Amino acid sequence: EIETPVHARPPARLGQIGLRAKSVILVGSGKGGVGKSTVAASLALTLQRLGAKVGLMDADVYGPSVPHLLGLQGRPSISEAKKIEPIRLNGEMPVMSMGFLLEPDQAVIWRGPMLHGSITQFLKDTDWGELDYLVIDMPPGTGDVALTLSQNVPVTGAVVVCTPQEVALLDAVKAISMFKKVNIPVAGMVENMSGFQCPDCGKNYDIFGRGGARNKAEELGVPYLGGLPIDIVLREAGDAGELAKVIYEDARARAPFEQVARAL
Ligand code: ADP
Repeated sequence: EIETPVHARPPARLGQIGLRAKSVILVGSGKGGVGKSTVAASLALTLQRLGAKVGLMDADVYGPSVPHLLGLQGRPSISEAKKIEPIRLNGEMPVMSMGFLLEPDQAVIWRGPMLHGSITQFLKDTDWGELDYLVIDMPPGTGDVALTLSQNVPVTGAVVVCTPQEVALLDAVKAISMFKKVNIPVAGMVENMSGFQCPDCGKNYDIFGRGGARNKAEELGVPYLGGLPIDIVLREAGDAGELAKVIYEDARARAPFEQVARAL
């Protein structure tokens, strides 16, 4: 039996803005393309698989990729209580993303106040229900959204995703100092694309290196939450919009996220 890593925080703490979640977990990165959205969505699905009630908010308003990863589409409707009805994965996990409000190839140009407004609206006006976790996929790099979030909800912690390469690590260090600056606790670092095991010969190849994030985390005095190998199954699942199916059904693909979930 798997033990549910639900945080023992009373939902009431977030009551003043109407959001009822025991834990708010941000997933950020210093730059794009390191697998932040894949980690955010997979972590949310894993927590759900472990028995928690989970909501997923895609705050990467510049490049919302959560709907694609999960194969979700549709327009959120407004309920009689004037709440935004999120799109529900398998009729269950509430998901909210700017991707549901835009045409597929529509670009967004945000001014600060609009960005602030859309993020707070996603938080306050979405009918999230009562959650154990709200997982938030952050835009890479910039601090605007982190600042808005820190002003609106007590964030439990930020998970910073990076790859093992030195340049990626430097960007991750910037992301960590950004979170610290806006008083968001750093939950720890995740090293994505941390090695590759050849499915034919079983040999390990450290394509982008390995271990850099663990060392950097130690240097910075933040927890190291675990590594995630390059995984073709994960990449194909994301491209096909079938990440949920893979995380629910494939214990091997899910294992690294269970490790992160437990370390939160
Ligand atoms: P970000 O949110 O940081 O921009 P994404 O999560 O969108 O990054 O990932 C970028 C691409 O890399 C996607 O196509 C995704 O499927 C792929 N990817 C991410 N992590 C892995 C991994 N561990 N193994 C294989 N492909 C991955």
